[in-house]
Amino acid sequence: MLAAILRSFGEELSLEDVREPSNGIILKVLATGLCHGDLHVMNGDWKYEIKIELPKILGHEIVGEVVKGNHNFKEGDKVLVYNSVGCGKCKYCVSRKYQYCEKVKIVGLNIDGGFAEYVSVPTDNILLRVDGNPVELAPLADAGITAYSSTKGIGEGDNVLIIGTGAVALLALQILKLKGARITVIGHNKNKLGKAKEIGADEVIDIQDGSTIASEIKESKFDYIIDYVGSDYTLSDSMWLLNREGELRIVGEFGGTLTVPEQLLVLKGLKVRGILYGSFDDLISVYKLYNEGKIRPIVNTYRLRDINKSIKGLREGKMIGRAVIVPP
Ligand SMILES: [Zn+2]
Ligand SMILES: [Zn+2]
Repeated sequence: MLAAILRSFGEELSLEDVREPSNGIILKVLATGLCHGDLHVMNGDWKYEIKIELPKILGHEIVGEVVKGNHNFKEGDKVLVYNSVGCGKCKYCVSRKYQYCEKVKIVGLNIDGGFAEYVSVPTDNILLRVDGNPVELAPLADAGITAYSSTKGIGEGDNVLIIGTGAVALLALQILKLKGARITVIGHNKNKLGKAKEIGADEVIDIQDGSTIASEIKESKFDYIIDYVGSDYTLSDSMWLLNREGELRIVGEFGGTLTVPEQLLVLKGLKVRGILYGSFDDLISVYKLYNEGKIRPIVNTYRLRDINKSIKGLREGKMIGRAVIVPP
């Protein structure tokens, strides 16, 4: 089968003909989303935090068709793959928050993933039977679930600032819209901000070069700020822009450092939370929103053989929404 393989950090993916997997449940890959996380992995940015042994087939946002199943999943079933495989026993696994399991293995990082014609999954408790267009379904497996979990608890009338305009942020915007929140989106890519406006942002702010988030925002105060970037630049102002009892949620993993004066935190009763992915139940919930036609991932389709072209587009900031890879 054709597979795109990461052989060494800092290089393009290598397109090779490799043996099809034979263990576990086998899926014929219908579509796999290309995530910003894949770029971080390829760059080697995370090689100290996440143990990734090379060579590896990346791709952790997979929708596939069962070709070798078990008693729960039959041949021909279309499934979305929740990408974190847990130990199945710890308190996190029991509540199906497999992403926080100490022994977690991620399909497409620690285990070969979806940038191939077939993929093997080790357990069926990460599979969700789905219906719909595979190219739109694939982004739900990471961007969608993360967008969903990062917006939980936010409701009608809340004033929300979204920092960033990537695929997760644009999905979160759609979900927040359904909840009746007031949404401001801040970013520095005109085309992506235009898209945010088109799909329902109440306000978009284009950060000028040399400017800061605080100076662009001026007077507004937010009940929630959701940072889909997570850099020093985005983190430096956020806490100052929150209302009393406001909450900063950090989702993006650009490696910034958050410094907060203790008195600001205490006197205003502020909260900070990190959001990593979501629970299996969040995947069910976000799929339900998609299935009811309430959200639509924005997608750009590429063939597997052209994957390096899509990676280049994502790196250059040209991709609005998700690049989704379809084999071969
Ligand atoms: Zn990802
Ligand atoms: Zn566990």
